[in-house]
Amino acid sequence: GMMGHGGGTGRLDLPNIKHIVAVASGKGGVGKSTTAANIALALARLGLKVGLFDADIYGPSVPRVMGLAGRKPTARGDRIVPLRNHDVTVMSIGFMVEEDSPVVWRGPMVVGALEQLLRDVDWGELDVMIVDMPPGTGDTQLTMSQRVPLSGAVIVSTPQDIALLDARKGLFMFRKVEVPVLGIIENMSYYQCPSCGHREEVFGHGGARKTAAELDAPFLGEIPLDLKIREATDAGRPIVVAEPDGPHAKAYLDIAKSIW
Ligand code: ADP
Repeated sequence: GMMGHGGGTGRLDLPNIKHIVAVASGKGGVGKSTTAANIALALARLGLKVGLFDADIYGPSVPRVMGLAGRKPTARGDRIVPLRNHDVTVMSIGFMVEEDSPVVWRGPMVVGALEQLLRDVDWGELDVMIVDMPPGTGDTQLTMSQRVPLSGAVIVSTPQDIALLDARKGLFMFRKVEVPVLGIIENMSYYQCPSCGHREEVFGHGGARKTAAELDAPFLGEIPLDLKIREATDAGRPIVVAEPDGPHAKAYLDIAKSIW
């Protein structure tokens, strides 16, 4: 097998998965996992067979976000049976490690473990798999982008300069390994007070749109900072499921349509 040879250039063969799309960010805490989950749910609502693979080894939050915290996948023969919720097939490196035990694996081990999960999980037939990538643009991310046959990548950033700088690095990383950048999303784009309607641009606004234009990448949309998004995510029912007819669900559906 190829496991453990994280530095190689051979790509994993995953014939039952039509498209794999990475959701990436230059740094942590910008809402990458929230975005990945909501895009996966929006794609499922479009009638597609969708998988969500949590590759964020350093802070796997997909089990919680998808309402699967504390659950464990089972084995069938030598295959791992993934979990499923909200019409999305879910696998996370977080299911396999103890909560509260920090993962100190080195890059090649991380890539090896992720490859093994991708290969040994019985994903079934998928139209699209969304991969919640580890944040950042280091060797691990680079190797993953080379080894996993990605159809494209979506980059999540807040409007802050520092996050945007890191988002740029992410974009260049994907371009280097010839993975098409499907676009940039501005998360926490602004805050609108639910009682008075006043709008505040907490982290600035519009930077991701500008960066996308400068780097000739599509701009996919902006998602505001909203308590409801946070509560829905933390309750394991992301906003696309919690408020399927609301404005945020519409925004994620528009993003899903433009990347599909
Ligand atoms: P990352 O994967 O980039 O580390 P998360 O998706 O885990 O970030 O989000 C970090 C925190 O911010 C979570 O508590 C999440 O619920 C919250 N969050 C993400 N996006 C939004 C948003 N648009 N509005 C409000 N809270 C958000």
